[in-house]
Amino acid sequence: MLEDTIVAIATPLGEGSIGVIRMSGPEAINIGQRVFRAKKNKDWYIKDNYKIIYGHIVDPQTNEVLDEVLLSVMRGPRSFTAEDVVEISCHGGIVPLKRVLELLLRMGARLAEAGEFSKRAFINGRLDLSQAESIIDLIRAKTTDGAKIALNQLQGRLSEQVHVLQNDILGLLAQIEAIIDFPEDDLPEQTLDQMSLACQRLIDTINRLLEQADTGKIYREGLKTVIVGKPNVGKSSLLNALLREQRAIVTDIPGTTRDVIEEVINIKGVPLKIIDTAGLRETQDLVEKLGVERSRQLLNQADLVLLVLDASTGITKEDLEVIKLIKDKRVLVLINKIDLNVHHIDTTELKQYFNASAILEISAQQEIGLEQLEQTILELVLAGKVTNSENILVSNSRHKYALEQARNHLMEAQQGMKSYIPADLVAIDLKSSWEFLGDITGKNVSEDLIDRIFADFCIGK
Ligand code: GDP
Ligand code: ZN
Repeated sequence: MLEDTIVAIATPLGEGSIGVIRMSGPEAINIGQRVFRAKKNKDWYIKDNYKIIYGHIVDPQTNEVLDEVLLSVMRGPRSFTAEDVVEISCHGGIVPLKRVLELLLRMGARLAEAGEFSKRAFINGRLDLSQAESIIDLIRAKTTDGAKIALNQLQGRLSEQVHVLQNDILGLLAQIEAIIDFPEDDLPEQTLDQMSLACQRLIDTINRLLEQADTGKIYREGLKTVIVGKPNVGKSSLLNALLREQRAIVTDIPGTTRDVIEEVINIKGVPLKIIDTAGLRETQDLVEKLGVERSRQLLNQADLVLLVLDASTGITKEDLEVIKLIKDKRVLVLINKIDLNVHHIDTTELKQYFNASAILEISAQQEIGLEQLEQTILELVLAGKVTNSENILVSNSRHKYALEQARNHLMEAQQGMKSYIPADLVAIDLKSSWEFLGDITGKNVSEDLIDRIFADFCIGK
């Protein structure tokens, strides 16, 4: 499979000052030599391990010049894929890029699949699986903190931690092997107690990693937030005020159906993915427009609901309809329009209907109380835990699952040590725990899983 040479456009398609074509594999340099005419350094393909050379891409069959380029040579194993890599920086237009790409394909390269470059880096041992996965997290990061967490993972911080855990388990396994050789009636109790303690330390370490996993996931994927409220309470105004205040709109992803729009707001490093029902016709509320079913779906997925009420109208029947839908969610109540100085909302009455996480007074229009709102959201999300993006934060649910399984097997092993069940059964649990940890770095994961993970990447990565 690694015999062939792959090629892809590595930069987004569109107009840009440059566009990069990346080629990797045993024929990369040979193909490069056949299509590239260097201005100087004409013997680059013989002698250079690393070099950037100026020249032209020329179709050897027609002698037509396709583009004026910079060509970078990076000979394996010291390249991204650990193979010979040639990158061609072309002019960043769709046509020149496509023509150069087509020429390289004609010369024998094969079009890379999504994520295939990273996959080769993994297969060739340049990156482990958790490092490779962090590349996509880094590219998709929505805030600086999200990017820092991904970068830590790319640098192998999580992998290091996993290796330490795995080594300790191997130590325990070695001890178990020794015990197996003891006669049945002479179990060394002290050793077992010590081992049980060692097990507990491992369990504690994993638990600490898991404790922050939910936070890590929020930094990686954003906190799904829905703004609800009857028509005219100020939902759109609130969203606009938050966007204005932040001036840090990272993306603007129109929903698949035109009924919902998602905006990302940066709250002190935490990306808040706000599902904006403001795109709805103003006279219709969420439930009316989308139907109860769709609203339920949206609300079901939400990590946080912002319920907007109108201070000047008090709690109305329409509000109660909305409240019915969000009773079981984590809800922040925002009493809006306090600038009008008519406050008809009785918070004790409100508390009878459901258990709000917090009740705040704001004016979306006058931008009053927004700082407080952000602070409250942050506290809710981090639940008082100090989170430092420099820490190892497990942000990937695949890793979280593997850690949970590893911990559970350690707990069973520990239980076994305490109740003196046969040592070889304890060994099985320790071994399972070790294997689940290996899933994170990809030591023994199936080809299927590897394919699935890298398919999530974009072409050229
Ligand atoms: P939505 O239907 O819930 O999205 O409500 P809008 O954001 O469109 O607001 C409805 C009306 O209330 C508009 O005329 C807003 O200007 C007004 N409004 C929104 N927030 C406030 C506020 O804090 N104070 C006052 N006085 N008016 C507001
Ligand atoms: Zn609106």
